[in-house]
Amino acid sequence: MTEENALVSLRGVGPRMLERLAKLNIFSLTDLLFHLPLRYQDRTRARPLGSLRPGEEVLVEGRVDLSEIKFGRRRMLLCRISDGTGSLLLRFFHFSNQQKAQLAPGVSIRCFSEVRRSPSGLEMVHPEYQLGAELSGQDRPDSLTPVYPVTEGLHQIGMRKLMAQAVERLQQNTFELAELLPADLLDKKQMPSLREALLFIHQPPADIESGELQDARHPVYQHLIFEELLAHYLSLRQLRHRMHAHTAPVLKSGAYAQQFIESLPFTLTGAQQRVYQEIQNDMQQACPMQRLVQGDVGSGKTVIAVLAALAAVEQGYQAVIMAPTEILAEQHFKNIETWMKALDIRVTWLSGKLKASQRREALAALAEGQCRIAVGTHALFQTDVEFSRLGLVVVDEQHRFGVHQRLALREKGRQGNRYPHQLIMTATPIPRTLSMAAYADLDISVIDELPPGRKPVETVVVPESRRDEIVQRVHRACQEGRQVYWVCTLIEESEALQCQAAEDTAEKLAAALVDVKIALVHGRMKPAEKEAVMQAFKQGEIDLLVATTVIEVGVDVLNASLMIIENAERLGLAQLHQLRGRVGRGDQASACVLMYKKLSQLARERLSVMRETSDGFEIARRDLALRGPGEILGTKQTGLLQLKIADLQRDQLLLEEVAMVADKLLENDRACAEALIARWTGAASRFADV
Ligand code: ADP
Ligand code: MG
Repeated sequence: MTEENALVSLRGVGPRMLERLAKLNIFSLTDLLFHLPLRYQDRTRARPLGSLRPGEEVLVEGRVDLSEIKFGRRRMLLCRISDGTGSLLLRFFHFSNQQKAQLAPGVSIRCFSEVRRSPSGLEMVHPEYQLGAELSGQDRPDSLTPVYPVTEGLHQIGMRKLMAQAVERLQQNTFELAELLPADLLDKKQMPSLREALLFIHQPPADIESGELQDARHPVYQHLIFEELLAHYLSLRQLRHRMHAHTAPVLKSGAYAQQFIESLPFTLTGAQQRVYQEIQNDMQQACPMQRLVQGDVGSGKTVIAVLAALAAVEQGYQAVIMAPTEILAEQHFKNIETWMKALDIRVTWLSGKLKASQRREALAALAEGQCRIAVGTHALFQTDVEFSRLGLVVVDEQHRFGVHQRLALREKGRQGNRYPHQLIMTATPIPRTLSMAAYADLDISVIDELPPGRKPVETVVVPESRRDEIVQRVHRACQEGRQVYWVCTLIEESEALQCQAAEDTAEKLAAALVDVKIALVHGRMKPAEKEAVMQAFKQGEIDLLVATTVIEVGVDVLNASLMIIENAERLGLAQLHQLRGRVGRGDQASACVLMYKKLSQLARERLSVMRETSDGFEIARRDLALRGPGEILGTKQTGLLQLKIADLQRDQLLLEEVAMVADKLLENDRACAEALIARWTGAASRFADV
């Protein structure tokens, strides 16, 4: 690091301060300047007391009218100030005699704090304050005051002092930041220079609308947003590049896969064949596959996973298939075990809840290599699980996994310099530009075709007041030999409440439908109980399954053709789509009843999207349009970086261009690409060993 860039060149920075700054990932002046404000305070002007509203954080100036100590439940100092437009109460629970004496009537005072409602009008509790006979506007700052992320031992005031020094150097050009964005891009997009952008963000002029700053809507942010997205994208591409430099076993499909395909009661769809081919091409390379398969609910991802696993088995390697829930893992195991019996391939099941002896047996079979395919939950990746020759890791339905978890999984299967291939499967439809940015370290395949003969699920939206009718509908369906899901949702409440609601519903339904075989499944049941219920449902021994959203992903019961979802208005469209995907899997006509308590205009529109289409991508697109930036990706931490100011959804329109600029940089200017990543990842990239 150059001398100018060293933090010790700042006043107030010694060894202790360096440690504290390190906690914030600040190791250089550059890192400090990229430590961006969380929000701003306006201390540039005093607000008339008569204009205050509760909840505002404001600067006020006035004169002390009255100051007295009250002895209520707690001793406190109350001080009333006024400025001719109104008055305000200051409340102190901790104060010295000296303070009490200073806050004497007639003294002028300036305070900064949040305004709160109190029984006797508006008040500030423990405001920051200054006293002075003559407070003039001149000693107020002339820019907004940033509020930074801080840490123990380094509070706002200290941070601002350090930042002010850094900003001053930038201002006086005694410290220079390299401009890493191509000049023609700045020109074309009319972006400010990096220096201008940073100066502005650390010291915004008072006349700006602070909402514009807070939501990064001000044009000055565009430079930083673009840089951050670029760095994010580059870091993922670099990761991909590094993975490609590792080796992986060459896995070619052969007789097993052929036999398996022939044993299926259906032929693969065109899309399945294409994706299978893409996977085969990857696995025949001596570097690790890193592929994401997106396929709508019911598009047939499981057979693709099994085909990939068989390529590993063919070459004497093991494959693991990991599912996010016990129910789904169990279901995969049952299916795959049945399929593999015909091929004489041993499959093992590993969940967190196995008995010690079963677990020992499973672990031994994996470590010694008799077991070729392992199916399970994340229990597959606990430290005591060893594989003899792991060739492939399949992660099913884990779209919410961030890069860090993906890397951790990959590391688990590492043997020396050799990595297993990795296949990630998701039913969560993500618009293309978004997935391009979020999964830039992966290759993407899309199964964009459903098996033939699927009938769309007829969807109706019904108020809860018509519950009796719906119960009768369930009754008729069961009498016709169809199977039904009744899903109880209470998203904001605790899991316990959700399970309770399901139990209550099951009881009421049992009372109303005496000749219907009802069972209940929810997250608080023991795994063995859950499995038994799911198995019984699958085998048709149960007509009506009352469930919480534990059945959301992956569950596959062909004969189930009616689903009731309670409180549908409270679920996201993606989740409703997943749930609804549990029916309409067989060849009979299926229906889904979305029951609601109260419908806002927005909720009405959202539920009607469900009625109009069953295309997951279309639903995601409409959801995005209706809700604005929402929850599609589930987390901001999709990449290596925790994004500071960019937002993959809000800034979607930039992504295409980001990718283009990134590809050019990777081709022509790697040093610049590295510098961008280092600038935005700070310490994170320095220590990441991937
Ligand atoms: P998802 O993509 O949601 O994981 P599954 O793999 O569970 O879907 O498949 C859904 C159902 O479709 C399963 O019962 C599966 O056996 C069946 N299926 C898969 N591929 C085909 C196909 N090509 N033709 C007919 N049915 C298929
Ligand atoms: Mg699935």
